[in-house]
Amino acid sequence: MTPRPDGGTAGRSHDPTGTLPAAVLWDMDGTLVDTEPSWMAAEAALVGEHGGEWTEHDALQMIGLPLPAAAKILQGHGVDLPVEVITERLVDGVSEAISRHVEWQPGALELLVALRHAGVPCALVTMSYRRLAATVVAAAPQGSFAAVVTGDEVTFGKPHPEPYLRAAQMLGVDVRECVAIEDSPPGIGSALAAGASTLGVEHIAPVVAAPGLSRVGSLAEIDLGDLARIASGEVIDLLVRSGA
Ligand SMILES: [Mg+2]
Repeated sequence: MTPRPDGGTAGRSHDPTGTLPAAVLWDMDGTLVDTEPSWMAAEAALVGEHGGEWTEHDALQMIGLPLPAAAKILQGHGVDLPVEVITERLVDGVSEAISRHVEWQPGALELLVALRHAGVPCALVTMSYRRLAATVVAAAPQGSFAAVVTGDEVTFGKPHPEPYLRAAQMLGVDVRECVAIEDSPPGIGSALAAGASTLGVEHIAPVVAAPGLSRVGSLAEIDLGDLARIASGEVIDLLVRSGA
């Protein structure tokens, strides 16, 4: 557990069971698993094959976007292929990487296990496609996810609220009583627009302060008591000290 900016653990609930969120709604890429390097490698390979240049700045703009939107950006960088072909190529690249090894983000598995023990249902809410999400769900502790919403199965992707609203509906809970965990601007936008209490975990893209948005540098800094506080409307901001 990382020390808090206030130097203590005051306010931490030791018996959070009464105020736990109705559900926790998890983004996948960058939040639950460290797949962003695989996405970036797949993007760079495609652009490189078509004679273009792909910078880290370009890759940052892609994080959290629905795949068709990401494909259009790649077309703008010279990838002369249909959107569906580009999305399949990206998914193939990441699928190959995670079939070899799923890299969990720090603290993610511990939090999943704690939520399961506490009886809090979880949903995976991702703009990745079903076959990638299925690989991650299969690698997670059994029974971790009671619902999965994927980018190929929604009408409107993040930052539209549909994915988070759909997840809450599938779990039969009020989205306003849920905590959503996200790492990207489109994902945070989607979760806030849906009405979920939202926790931004800074990974590759900066998590910019926003009204009602809790922020941490890692899930390893968060426990069930913190999720209960966030669900009850409190904003926990552990990035504020660095002036982020
Ligand atoms: Mg993400």
